[in-house]
Amino acid sequence: MNTFEEIGLGPEIVKAVSDLGYENPTEIQQKAIPYVLSSQTDLVALAQTGTGKTAAFSLPVLEKIDIDEKSVQCLVLCPTRELCLQITKDIEGFSKYMKKLDVIPVYGGTSIDKQIRDLKRGGQIVVGTPGRIIDLLKRKKLNIQNIRWLVLDEADEMLSMGFKDDLDTILSETPEERQTLLFSATMPREIASIAENYMHDPMEISVGKKNNASNNVKHEYYVVHARDRYNALKRIADMNPDIYGIVFCRTRKETKDVADQLMQDGYNADALHGDLSQAQRDQVMGKFRVKHLQILVATDVAARGLDVNDLTHVINYNLPDDIEVYIHRSGRTGRAGKNGVSIAIAHSREIGRVRDVERKVGQKFERKMVPGGKEICEKQLFNLVDKVENVEVNDDQIEEYLSVIYKKLEWLNREDLIKRFVSVEFNRFLSYYEDAPDLNVTVRDRNDRRNDRRGDRNDRNGRDRDRGNRGNFARFFLNLGNKDNLTAGKLIGIINEQPALRKIDIGKIDIMNNFSFFEVDKKHERDLLGALNGVDYEGSAISVEVARSKESNTGFGGRAKRRKRRMY
Ligand code: AMP
Repeated sequence: MNTFEEIGLGPEIVKAVSDLGYENPTEIQQKAIPYVLSSQTDLVALAQTGTGKTAAFSLPVLEKIDIDEKSVQCLVLCPTRELCLQITKDIEGFSKYMKKLDVIPVYGGTSIDKQIRDLKRGGQIVVGTPGRIIDLLKRKKLNIQNIRWLVLDEADEMLSMGFKDDLDTILSETPEERQTLLFSATMPREIASIAENYMHDPMEISVGKKNNASNNVKHEYYVVHARDRYNALKRIADMNPDIYGIVFCRTRKETKDVADQLMQDGYNADALHGDLSQAQRDQVMGKFRVKHLQILVATDVAARGLDVNDLTHVINYNLPDDIEVYIHRSGRTGRAGKNGVSIAIAHSREIGRVRDVERKVGQKFERKMVPGGKEICEKQLFNLVDKVENVEVNDDQIEEYLSVIYKKLEWLNREDLIKRFVSVEFNRFLSYYEDAPDLNVTVRDRNDRRNDRRGDRNDRNGRDRDRGNRGNFARFFLNLGNKDNLTAGKLIGIINEQPALRKIDIGKIDIMNNFSFFEVDKKHERDLLGALNGVDYEGSAISVEVARSKESNTGFGGRAKRRKRRMY
């Protein structure tokens, strides 16, 4: 394998990529960089996102660009605002030692004025979405008549998003002698016709198998009754405490529902779908990118352009109807040499479908069993022990408290102490998964399929199998949460203060940011509603209602703990 130096890049760029931690060129870079450096003819590259294609086109362009000339020399077209910003950031990284190089992102959905000002100041590279580029061309604020390179990134996505006419217009505005570099994960007919109409005798390169999912991706599937999908998802998440993944759902509603349930159950999750405003979407994507969220529940459309490289898991909450969609989803993990897992939660009638996808992907999918309570508890326990082993200890800060703590715990020996520390976290998993049912569908006969269909119907009515261990508690929604300074202790205090509620058992309490859930003995449901509603809490009127049934809270980051009155 050749190094970045050996494939013809100069010291400034080599140093910049080395700063980014790139050790050697990826396959697409090995192929594309020397070609673009040495040739003027066009290039069609079949490559998935995650193969390193941004550097494959940017580095040779940067090597050849005239940095003393401020006019636009390279135009990069890409389908979404997110990708546009990502490419810009990447190019800024690659050109960090080229002080005079300016790259300007232009995209829709935001004020055009600033972008016009940026263009006026000048820059050698413009990265933009087709609609905004057309707008700027019409206003004569962007001149692409002298560009030397036109890059079409994720060309198939641009076509499937309806940018065909825009692309035609833009292509016809560029000079004949430009070099066109087209990158696409798939090669539908329309791409071939763009290549035919606008490109001159392009060289074609491809990395990996055309249209194939990455080899760093392990494909797994679980077979459960349709009604157990959500519980299976929860168990998969519990089995992977360090998960950083996207759960793909079919509809906006399903996306919302799954994300809401995960959040209510204490997981570090959020939703990304088309009903959110651009600002809300940006916020969610931003949180996910910096890993403040572990699980993003998304529709395919909304997740487009979210370019995150180190996902550990992609979870297909349902198998998509279109196999290409599966391939696209799974291609979001296992990027840049890292390993990833693509999971499909299927029900027994979908086994045939799994086989279809397997054939298309060209890899065997592994049937995995939904973990049972014991396995999950074991996993969580060892995860906890690992955390204890690896936690950073701030000796200076903790020092002043230690002597008091040592004294307080003096009566415990080492074994007791370890048992207690571990139990603080672990008990909730133990109690939650005690008696948890097996969710796997094992037999695939006609009866089973009939049950599945019944399961589908039950699923629509909303129910819960894992609830068997919940005892006789009713769950309530409360209009106050963390933001109102509510804590579990305070909530218990409020309940205790009501004479009608003196003797009731309190179950799990989940304090969320804006609201909370808690359980009390079902017998006292009415008393509770009657006694608490309208009570004043630090200036706000309390509003309580019976919550829709949900599994209880066991997720990471969850606050649920079983609290009994006698503890206080
Ligand atoms: P891309 O396909 O351009 O979206 O790149 C996928 C990811 O791979 C990005 O996070 C890049 O920073 C990273 N990457 C690109 N080229 C290399 C390389 N030669 N070595 C290591 N990482 C790379």
